[in-house]
Amino acid sequence: MRNKIVAGNWKMNLLLAEAIDLGRKIKEAASEIEGVQVLLFPSSIYLKSLAEIAIPVGAQNFYPAENGAFTGEISISQLKDCGATHVLIGHSERRAIFGEQADFLKQKVDSAIAHKITPVFCCGEPLEIREAGTELVYVKRQLEESLFHILPENMQNCIVAYEPVWAIGTGKTATVAQAEEMHRSIRNWITEKYTETIAQNCSIIYGGSCNVSNAQELFSSPNVDGGLIGGASLQAESFIKIAQSF
Ligand code: PEP
Repeated sequence: MRNKIVAGNWKMNLLLAEAIDLGRKIKEAASEIEGVQVLLFPSSIYLKSLAEIAIPVGAQNFYPAENGAFTGEISISQLKDCGATHVLIGHSERRAIFGEQADFLKQKVDSAIAHKITPVFCCGEPLEIREAGTELVYVKRQLEESLFHILPENMQNCIVAYEPVWAIGTGKTATVAQAEEMHRSIRNWITEKYTETIAQNCSIIYGGSCNVSNAQELFSSPNVDGGLIGGASLQAESFIKIAQSF
C-alpha cells in the first residue's frame, strides 16, 4: 500500500516566526488526520526550527557535493543534520530559473539516495508541449534521464511529483483526466523499468494550483496519491483542508 502524501512547498516565503506559527498549526491539525503523510518544505534556514516542532520536513534544494568550496550552497548532510528527511529535485522553478539540467538532477538524486534522504522527483511539461500533445514523451524522458537509473530498492522509496509547468502558480489546474492519464503512465513506466510491486508502492503526487476546491476530486483519482501544494500551503486553513481531502 502506497502512502497518501500532502506536501507544502513554501518556496521563498515567510519569516521565521510566521513559519513556526504555520508549522505549529499544521502539526496540530495533521495529528488528527489519519493515513496521510503531511510534509513541509520550508526555506532551508528554518528546517531545524520546524523539525523541532516534530513535523516532517524536507529541503527545497541542495548542492550534490559532500563539502568544499561551493560558496552559498548547502549539502545534503547539512540538511539532514537540520532534520530534513526529504528533498525536492527537479522542481520546474529550479529547472527554468536556475538552469538545472537532467544530468545535474541525476547527481542530486544519487546524492539524496546515498544519504538516505527521500527524493521527491518533480517532472512535468511546459504549455507548448501540452499543446503539441507530446507531454507523455516529454515526461517519460525527464524520468529516464534523471531518475530511472536508480536501483529498484531505491525506487520504491522515491516519491514522484507530476507538476505540469503551465499549472504551477497560475491558477490553472490539470483536469482529473489529464492528471490521471499522466499518473497512470508514470506508474506504467515504473512497472516497465522496475516491477509492478515497486510501481504500486511508489507514491505519485500532483502539483499545480491544487487547492481546497479541486483537491478532493484530484485525490479521488486512482493513481493520484496526494499533492505538492505551493500557494495554498501558506495558509493553515487551506493546507489543512487539502490534507483532509482524501
Ligand atoms: C509548486 O510550486 O510545487 C506548486 C505546485 O505551486 P502552486 O500550488 O502554487 O501551483
